[in-house]
Amino acid sequence: LFIVFEGGDGAGKSTQVALAQQWLETRGSKVITTREPGGTQISEALRSLVLEHGHGDIDSRTEALIYSAARAAHVQQVITPALAAGTHVICDRFVDSSLAYQGIGRALGIESVAGINHFATNGLKPDATIILDISAADGRARRIAAGGGVEAADRLEAEPDDFHERIRQAFLELASLEPDRYLVLDANSSVEDLHHAVTTHLAGLL
Ligand code: C5P
Repeated sequence: LFIVFEGGDGAGKSTQVALAQQWLETRGSKVITTREPGGTQISEALRSLVLEHGHGDIDSRTEALIYSAARAAHVQQVITPALAAGTHVICDRFVDSSLAYQGIGRALGIESVAGINHFATNGLKPDATIILDISAADGRARRIAAGGGVEAADRLEAEPDDFHERIRQAFLELASLEPDRYLVLDANSSVEDLHHAVTTHLAGLL
């Protein structure tokens, strides 16, 4: 399976990625976890480039192309080979993050961002996308409480809550268009409850 976690910054994606990996491994499956932007040497370099420079230096179209270039390398070098070898892939963010952040957040439009991403991924789609839904205010509070994610924090301080609310609505909208491929969870639920909902959903797909 190709499993993707999506959601706003501070939603708790990385915790759920790690728990889902453990759960699949205890069932005897081979699993890799990876993240976007990132996941290959080239993609991590592009991640640093775009996150260090921030929106002031990089215009929206360039940003969208850098994310999709990073994704192309990631799909070809990591995700597709793993899936072909029968390994489950769990990815922290994928195309939907670009549709939400660049398509809606940066107002490039869903269609144009979907177009470059279709090219980048060669049409690869997740089997399951799990959205951890969080409000802008809760996400901000959780990032501050966690104290980590410095590179993301820099960017986020520059963005008003309104930006993050639009991202949130974009994820919910994407989920509503293809309800069979999506599971939307309230990120304010406990870690255990979220993990339980995730494993119930995945068990139905295995
Ligand atoms: O999830 P993670 O913290 O690794 O994401 C890094 C940052 O990249 C986030 O702050 C997110 O806002 C941003 N991002 C983006 N567009 C994407 C993917 C991530 O702006 N397509």
